[in-house]
Amino acid sequence: MIVGLPKEIKNNENRVALTPGGVTELVKNGHTVYVQTSAGSGSGFSDEEYTAAGATVLPTIEEVYAIAEMIVKVKEPIESEYKLIKENQLVFTYFHFASHEPLTKAMIESKAVCLAYETVEKKDRSLPLLVPMSEVAGRMAVQKGANYLEKPLGGRGVLLGGVAGVAPAKVLILGGGIVGTEAAKMAAGLGADVTIMDISLPRLRYLSDILPANVKTVMSNSYNISQAIKSSNLIIGSVLIPGAKAPHLITRNMLKEMQPGTVLVDVAVDQGGCIETCKPTTHENPTFVIDGVVHYCVANMPGAVPYTSTLALTNATLPYVIKLANKGWVDACQNDEELRKGLNVINGHIVYKPVAEAFGMGY
Ligand code: NAD
Repeated sequence: MIVGLPKEIKNNENRVALTPGGVTELVKNGHTVYVQTSAGSGSGFSDEEYTAAGATVLPTIEEVYAIAEMIVKVKEPIESEYKLIKENQLVFTYFHFASHEPLTKAMIESKAVCLAYETVEKKDRSLPLLVPMSEVAGRMAVQKGANYLEKPLGGRGVLLGGVAGVAPAKVLILGGGIVGTEAAKMAAGLGADVTIMDISLPRLRYLSDILPANVKTVMSNSYNISQAIKSSNLIIGSVLIPGAKAPHLITRNMLKEMQPGTVLVDVAVDQGGCIETCKPTTHENPTFVIDGVVHYCVANMPGAVPYTSTLALTNATLPYVIKLANKGWVDACQNDEELRKGLNVINGHIVYKPVAEAFGMGY
């Protein structure tokens, strides 16, 4: 199959969909790969590395879209790419259709086959192509939180791990899924006094088994949260209710109960946030302060570490990319329920129920 790898053109997106290592695997499987020049530069991969891996580098995005049977990307196509996508072309990327009607309509019109990373789903209902980015964001949440706890950045001036004779900082994590677990590991590793809350008792049992002794597991409810926020230095929001907006576990009024210089990192901001006062921010302007409390609410945290994020993402996507290239999407999806769940739009028709329902369209 002819596989195309365009450069991401969404603002501040430095990831790339395949590493030179991924290209090597595709070429080994007999496929032809075209890479747009400088597609990997934001993640630290040069055109020469792609050429050495067996790809052909093309100078423009138009040429990549024109020649490829399958386009592999990171972010959803943006408006200037809509017209480049062809009938029957397979596009494998994050789409997030349900929150983007113009994109959905454009992909219906294109008559392409849109396979969305975010809806590829395993039997246990986990989402294997979202997990790597949650891992990155969870680990980063602690790194960012520790940083903003420093006085010159608006924080209380507390060192996460403390020192001998001085107690460590208190970290509260709301939601013990992928993001929360990774955040707990990092905060615990730095020596903080960590509390992680979830509404699922089985999940809390599991976390209590695997996390170190400086992490306490506590049932998430409004009483426990309102008590814990009074003494927490860093609070990380990482709840998810699939398919719904995040619940506001921390309301505007509760900020008054916190110590000045407390830092809030609401990773769940992409689902509306679990802290009422959080509004999406960017890497250029990541924080704002309300009632003396620092809010960090970047909606695309993994974008700041494109090297790690690209490797983490391609580790997860590559087996699917190879399967699609080897078998073609019809055969690959017929024999693989996980991949089949990724199909969102086929030749002008929405085939993923929640997307159709989001726009009251036929399914
Ligand atoms: P997950 O499904 O693995 O975990 C969510 C957890 O929240 C579950 O364990 C669930 O039981 C728990 N939960 C639900 N309601 C709760 C409540 N009231 N109190 C406490 N816990 C509750 O999800 P995840 O992969 O960890 O993702 C978490 C959020 O982070 C999602 O909104 C995801 O989109 C977001 N995310 C953001 C970024 C970013 O850059 N900002 C990056 C990756 C993921």
